[in-house]
Amino acid sequence: LAAVLADISKPMIVQGVEIRVGCSIGVACAMEHGTTASELFANADMALYRAKEAGRNAIRLFTPAMAEDARNKLIRIEELRRAVERDEFVLHYQPQKEVRSGKIIGVEALVRWQHPVEGLLLPGVFIPLAEETGLIVPLGEIVLRKACQQARLWQDRGLPALRMGVNVSARQFLESSLTSHVASALQSADLDPQWLELELTESLIMRDVEGAIERMHELKELGVSLAMDDFGTGYSSLSTLRRFPLSRLKIDRSFIADIPEKPGDMAITSAIVSLGRTLDLEVVAEGVETEEQARFLEGAGCELLQGYLFARPLPSSEIESLITGTVSKAV
Ligand code: C2E
Ligand code: CA
Ligand code: CA
Ligand code: CA
Repeated sequence: LAAVLADISKPMIVQGVEIRVGCSIGVACAMEHGTTASELFANADMALYRAKEAGRNAIRLFTPAMAEDARNKLIRIEELRRAVERDEFVLHYQPQKEVRSGKIIGVEALVRWQHPVEGLLLPGVFIPLAEETGLIVPLGEIVLRKACQQARLWQDRGLPALRMGVNVSARQFLESSLTSHVASALQSADLDPQWLELELTESLIMRDVEGAIERMHELKELGVSLAMDDFGTGYSSLSTLRRFPLSRLKIDRSFIADIPEKPGDMAITSAIVSLGRTLDLEVVAEGVETEEQARFLEGAGCELLQGYLFARPLPSSEIESLITGTVSKAV
């Protein structure tokens, strides 16, 4: 098989142009891994999937553990589907501190899955699966609805108005229903759109710049603001960036984490802050964990700070206590 791979990987000349093709191979053995053709193909396919995951030109032999993993994944998908139907999700909110005033002026909504058996699950374990299966679309709708309702509820309870940041993933952004979901969430909560901010990631926008710009304008027309999340990890150029109707840039956590040990990260962070100034965008630093990081960011001119140093993502009642300065946990 390795010889087959090596053969296929050899460069070929087609009409004077050198072409290289890669190949991934999944293997299942008759008898050992299946007794029918369809079973063998299914298992070889599973091994092939792993080979592709391993990168170019890999070979993988089917193992029963692969079937076990695939089965677990199917169970997970079914659970997630049910969770969306029954709405087993809660939002936690992480405050954003405005450097100038020292006040909390916004929060980011972060979804958690209240799993009936496993307890509270973080987005890292289910958002990728929701993306893969398309369940992110109805899930995203639930999140938008809850976030808008919460923002409105805080206003009704007399809290100073907070901007509500909501994450939008790639699949959701590409779906044409997004604009109408946002509009209907705002409407049913009776929330002024200026309080809602959608966080889009750089990598998602860069996939199709023209399409993204169009979609962003569609959303802007509703009156919401847009932020670019995880900024610095993608490849937006200054010239593309200025075409996006953005209000804020969120510096990716990875650049903040090693301040002050990594001068390079500090330089990038400062550069992003000046970029923000040039483009008239506010800059938010996320993942601020230490006083030293906060001091550096303030000195660099970063307008908003978010991170464990100020607060972890918290249930709505705790946000309320944090802002009103009371410890009583209202309903
Ligand atoms: P993100 O948008 O970059 O969100 C920030 C993540 O960093 C959150 O993780 C937050 O808890 C964490 N974080 C905040 N401050 C600190 C800090 O000081 N130190 C460290 N180490 N981490 C900090 P979380 O809640 O686990 O969310 C992970 C990711 O899941 C989010 O990354 C976002 O991409 C995605 N996500 C969360 N909620 C939603 C949602 O409603 N919809 C979609 N599509 N994605 C979501
Ligand atoms: Ca975010
Ligand atoms: Ca982020
Ligand atoms: Ca992220």
